[in-house]
Order: sequence, then structure tokens, then C-alpha cells
Amino acid sequence: MTSSPLPHASSLPGFGTTGLARSEASAGSALSSAERAGLNSAVDLLAGKRLAVLTGAGLSTDSGIPDYRGPNSVPRNPMTYQQFVGDEALRRRYWARNHVGWHHLRRADPNDGHRALAQMERRGLLTGLITQNVDRLHSVAGSANVIDLHGTYDRVVCLSCRTSFARGDIAELLERLNPGYLERAGDAGDVAPDADADVDDTFDFRIAPCPVCGGMLKPDFVYFGENVPKDRVERSYAMVDDAGALLAAGSSLTVMSGLRFVRHAAKNGKPVVIINRGATRGDEFAAIKLEVGVSEALAYLSEALPDIEDGEAQDL
Ligand SMILES: [Zn+2]
Repeated sequence: MTSSPLPHASSLPGFGTTGLARSEASAGSALSSAERAGLNSAVDLLAGKRLAVLTGAGLSTDSGIPDYRGPNSVPRNPMTYQQFVGDEALRRRYWARNHVGWHHLRRADPNDGHRALAQMERRGLLTGLITQNVDRLHSVAGSANVIDLHGTYDRVVCLSCRTSFARGDIAELLERLNPGYLERAGDAGDVAPDADADVDDTFDFRIAPCPVCGGMLKPDFVYFGENVPKDRVERSYAMVDDAGALLAAGSSLTVMSGLRFVRHAAKNGKPVVIINRGATRGDEFAAIKLEVGVSEALAYLSEALPDIEDGEAQDL
């Protein structure tokens, strides 16, 4: 697929009035009876258990952020860490695309799926949320206990002095170094979940050096070829260990960074429910696999799951 232009946020499904109209409808109205039956068996399995939730890009597609591993997605090869640090031309290209992509991503709003998980947390149904998404939409929706497994798109780190910067401050620097670039780039094509926009004219883009030491800046999320920081992985395992079951939503579990938590839960006898359109690498570990729209399914579960009374929760 060549770039079908990404419309502005306000005209995307899940934004503005469209999103409002949908959340006014009772959860599940868009589900078939077979899908509802599947969800009801998940409710039976999960009722009374506190859940650890693992989310991936499929959760944010209803917020207008494409999932490059989803069934309808464009195959895409994100830049590796080694390419980023090792090749200045690639790095310039990366920052140019990220600069345009960031301006699109920050206009995205949470959808019914993000809101359902925030609501489930407020009701005490979750031990917490592990997300592979860097878009921060869980936090924007009100989830408090979130582990951003792969980092977030709104921070930038210096690879030399390790100072962390707000992405907005770096955007101002880039703006000053590249006056008029955003306007010339116009409407980006596909913007990937890591804020990589489909922009071709990147040769004269000027990269911002670290404002503190002049070193190399990098968006502070985990690239392909990089490892998730150890403390984040350990906190995620602890979240799964505290839970009675694991719910994985909107991830094809292609990379080990997420799959390991599914395996870990299954190995420890905790039921795993997977909600994802299309096969996942975790399907063999799932007690229940549901091929349903992620935001509809989460809204349904949020309404159907009963409260957990004090002392009632099992396997904590
Ligand atoms: Zn620095």
C-alpha cells in the first residue's frame, strides 16, 4: 500500500463526536452473538480474579494509530538501534520522520478500550497494566499503574550524558533548526505506532544535539535490537505474579518482550485470555482466544465482570 494520507485526528474513527456516540451505546451492541458467547466464557473464567493486562498496538488502532503487525497492516521494518547510532544519514532520516510523526501522534485520543481498562483498575479488578505501546494513551485515559514496557514517545534521552528531555522541548529545537519543514512535509502518510511518519524528503533535515553535552539524542523507547531495561521486566513479572489471570489484548505477541509474560503466566497455572484479531504467538498458551475487536471486547468485559469483594479474590 502506498501512503493513503492519515487524516487529521478530528476526522478519525474514535475521535470527537464519533467516539462520543459510540461510548453512549451500550457496550457490546456491535458484537455478534458468537462473539458475545466467547466473551461470556471469558467472564466466567476471569470473574473473581485480579488481572494483569498486557496491551499492544491493536488497542490503539481505534485511536487512529496504525498497527504495523495487524492483519490489514503494511509490512514495515522499523530502524534498529544499531542503524540509528551507526549511520548519520539514517539517523537524520529517522528524526525527520519522527518529527512529523510526533505531531500526529500527540493529537491522538484514548478510545473505549483504554477507558474500559482505566475503569477496571478503579474498580480494583487489575493488578496493573503492561503496555508495548509508546503512545501513553493508557495514562491519558486515567490508568495509574502502567508499565510502559517499550518506553514512551514523549521522552528523549541523551546517549552520552543520559539526561532525559520532554519530546515537546526537543520539538522546539528541531523547529528552530528546520524552519518550515513541517509545513513542507504536509500531511504525513502512514504514521507508525512509534511516531515514524512516511516522509521522503529528509536529506537536509538538521538533527538537534543534546542541549546539555552536545551528545547524540534518541527517542526514549526501545528499538528493535535493544533490550527492555531489566527493572521494567522484573516489575512486569511481579505484576503477573500478583494476578490471578493474564489478559492480553491487541498484541500479536510477535516479540519476546511481551510473549514471555504470557508464557510465564501459563507456566504458573494462571489462565491466559487473548483478545486479538489474527493469530498470535501466544495462542498455544491461551485458555481462551477471542478474535474480536479489542475496544468493543474490553468495554464488554468492563461491564460484565463482577466486583471483587475483599477476601474473595483467589490465587493472589
Ligand atoms: Zn547529553
